[in-house]
Amino acid sequence: MKLSGWGRYPTHNVRESAPRSIEQLQEFVAAGSAVARGNGRSYGDSAVSAFNTISTRHFNKMISFDTQTGTLVAEAGVLLGDVISSFLPLGFFPYVTPGTKYVTLGGMLAADVHGKNHHLEGSMYNYVDWFEIIDASSKMIRCSRKENSELFSWTIGGMGLTGIIVRVAIRLRPIESAWIAQTTVPVKNLNEAIDAFENNLSSTYSVAWIDCLSSGGSLGRSIVMLGEHAHESVLDDVQKKTLFKHVDRAKWTLPVALPRCLLNRVTVKVFNAMYFRYGQKTKGTRLVSWDSFFYPLDALLGWNKIYGRRGFLQFQCVIPLEKSSEGLHELVTEISSTGGGSFLAVLKRLGESAGGISFPMSGYTLALDFPVNGRNMKLMDRLEQITLQYGGRFYLAKDARMSKSTFRSSDSRVTDFISMRENSGMNQNFESMQSTRLGL
Ligand SMILES: Cc1cc2nc3c(=O)[nH]c(=O)nc-3n(C[C@H](O)[C@H](O)[C@H](O)COP(=O)(O)OP(=O)(O)OC[C@H]3O[C@@H](n4cnc5c(N)ncnc54)[C@H](O)[C@@H]3O)c2cc1C
Repeated sequence: MKLSGWGRYPTHNVRESAPRSIEQLQEFVAAGSAVARGNGRSYGDSAVSAFNTISTRHFNKMISFDTQTGTLVAEAGVLLGDVISSFLPLGFFPYVTPGTKYVTLGGMLAADVHGKNHHLEGSMYNYVDWFEIIDASSKMIRCSRKENSELFSWTIGGMGLTGIIVRVAIRLRPIESAWIAQTTVPVKNLNEAIDAFENNLSSTYSVAWIDCLSSGGSLGRSIVMLGEHAHESVLDDVQKKTLFKHVDRAKWTLPVALPRCLLNRVTVKVFNAMYFRYGQKTKGTRLVSWDSFFYPLDALLGWNKIYGRRGFLQFQCVIPLEKSSEGLHELVTEISSTGGGSFLAVLKRLGESAGGISFPMSGYTLALDFPVNGRNMKLMDRLEQITLQYGGRFYLAKDARMSKSTFRSSDSRVTDFISMRENSGMNQNFESMQSTRLGL
């Protein structure tokens, strides 16, 4: 079958198995060169193995929930969206969420996902109590901060290269309501955007949409959005009646890949101008639903076909805090002058790192999509060089094309990760197209 990540590039013709029991799973792992596949929402080739891709879709049961501590024990193939629809009505929400709820718990741990609150509350790592994993010897073992702690640390962020996670125990956050008090702050350029983040470090959530085609004094003009789980006291009577209501928004589906000519500098410019105007109009604080605040893209199912048949690439880097301003200016100038950027460029403030090889570090992360073509491949080479020049690193969950040397130059922890895999035999048992490309 043809398998790819969310970017639909690269695509590989490989076999995927979907074991239904732990015993079957252990047999597949013993065959070697295995990698787990959750819901395929990583963009590139991290959830595809040339020989042995193992889907976790049948490991989709929730096992227990403790309403006192908010601790959920569930199988790794459970979708985040199902966690929300089950526990939001009880007043709980995930501590950390990526920009889509169509990810599995296993995928969230493996990528050590970060959300709009990383600057304050960190990544998924912080909310995992333990997990059970099929390791390189095909045994199922439990890992926590006390038990097999080294494997615990390398696995969260380890992109499936340390084993197949089977069960997880994670903590959910008690909330007073599912409504989000969103404050919208339109800013004129990148400097103002950075000021808005730094002046609002105590906001639980912060994120900016950034116009990567603007230039001159408007370079990096943005809409910064701050958010808090709304307290019950600020809700009106109607909202109080829907405190934890799980409202399923209307969803649209993009049935076929759009012609590539629809996405060009002019359409992106028009979209950006309209979005910026909308941001100015909605300036200030208002209550919005959790779904539209956290998951605006989930409203259009299959939006990844918007970039046409050849698919798209995502670029996501983080630049360390002390060099963020300089580095971001150089990145955005490069993108703006090439004009190849996407509708959706996102800027976030990250806090301290956790996990053996996980992506976040204190600084600013910029993420944006590019349709696959020769010009954008060259642009991404240049963006990678700028990132390296400022001491930044790259998010493997978004990568589909980086070279071995770029990845190694970006992160001194890579050599330890490789040695750990070699010493434990993991390099024989766990392998993805990405890990082969990056020489992991
Ligand atoms: C629209 C969109 C928005 C996003 N926003 C964010 C964001 O804000 N922040 C962020 O951090 N990420 C974000 N992501 C990336 C996404 O959260 C990660 O790629 C996540 O890992 C996808 O989960 P998945 O279940 O689809 O995993 P897959 O894509 O199937 O797999 C991803 C990796 O996890 C490994 N894996 C999956 N399941 C297991 C398992 N059971 N055991 C061991 N390894 C496993 C795979 O081998 C692979 O290396 C976004 C993605 C999309 C499409």
